[in-house]
Amino acid sequence: MDTKQKELDFLKHKTLVASIHDVVFRTDSNGNWIFLNDSWARIMEFDVEDSISKPFFSFLHPDDVATDAALFEPMMAGTKQFCSHEIRYMTKSGNICWMKVFAMLVKDESGHIIGTQGTLQDINIDIQNREMRKLAEIQLMLSIKKEKELNLLKSNFVSLASHEFRTPLAIMRSSVELSEIYINNNRLQEPYLLKHILTITNQIDQLSELIEKVLTLGRIDSKAFTCKKEKIDLIGLVQEVIYALERIQHDERTVGLSVRGTRRKVMADPLLLAHAITNLLSNALKYSVNNREPNIEIVFTKYDYSIIITDFGIGIPVNAENKIFQAFYRADNVEAIKGTGLGTFIAKKFILLHNGTVSFTSVAKKGTIFTIHMN
Ligand code: ADP
Repeated sequence: MDTKQKELDFLKHKTLVASIHDVVFRTDSNGNWIFLNDSWARIMEFDVEDSISKPFFSFLHPDDVATDAALFEPMMAGTKQFCSHEIRYMTKSGNICWMKVFAMLVKDESGHIIGTQGTLQDINIDIQNREMRKLAEIQLMLSIKKEKELNLLKSNFVSLASHEFRTPLAIMRSSVELSEIYINNNRLQEPYLLKHILTITNQIDQLSELIEKVLTLGRIDSKAFTCKKEKIDLIGLVQEVIYALERIQHDERTVGLSVRGTRRKVMADPLLLAHAITNLLSNALKYSVNNREPNIEIVFTKYDYSIIITDFGIGIPVNAENKIFQAFYRADNVEAIKGTGLGTFIAKKFILLHNGTVSFTSVAKKGTIFTIHMN
């Protein structure tokens, strides 16, 4: 080939390389750029002339240098002929630029490794699309999960409603029928009649409680509750809750109250907080019948306060610990003790509305401590 032809070929290749959209590069065996086409300047904003002789590592995202070194070194050792991977470069203005790297070994005529050559493809758009797709997939998964939870909630509700609504109605119906028989037979003073009236009253109470809880659940779901904080006398509020629950207790047990720290008024929504404490304290009483009386301790510190409800009852089994605050969940040691599985769920929602937390520790057959903590 004569010199003129060689020059022509060189020019042809130069124009070809210059017109390639990707960065075309060549490095020496130390990883210093010895050739870059103009796409380097367009994508990376660095001047080609200024970049030549600088190590390509210095243009990488700092967190990716080690990854790239681990790929470059085996090539220079001759154990790998080429590599292809995605890596982050940093543009002159400090933005991350994702590149798909394809690099292969360059050897001289006697077979010595003298460097690498290849292309860097700007894949920012691909990465963005990939991220968007991932985000869309996560959103889809979340909405499927929510849908599943909702379906579970619905089916839990249906099984609860079919049992918990029907049973009291059936009991009331039979009590009414038996009472009717006593009345028709003029046996109005019969103790059995009073017993049936008591049964009916109990069932009405249970049904009312269930309906009230389900309605509260519906209102929570539709975000109907807002936390209207005001300055309240916390000790007075807890005393009222205790008094109200003691009045409807079937056994003679009372609830002890103690206070630690300097007494002061606190900011809280009295209705929501009273509701939450009522739910937890009524559980403490309900799940510890025939055991020591439960107690409440209020602890004031300078910036926060806690309400600690302790009982000495059946406790919460370890396998139930993660589910106690889920709607409709009831642990399997409750046996015949009545309930809806909604009390703790509602209590937690109301406490969260205060930006507070509720947690518990429990030992099966020994007792449970629920702690409400408010800042
Ligand atoms: P329930 O109406 O069943 O009491 P909750 O939502 O109030 O519903 O409580 C959910 C479940 O958590 C209960 O069914 C019970 O298994 C467990 N639990 C809650 N509080 C206590 C407690 N103080 N002692 C033992 N178990 C409790």
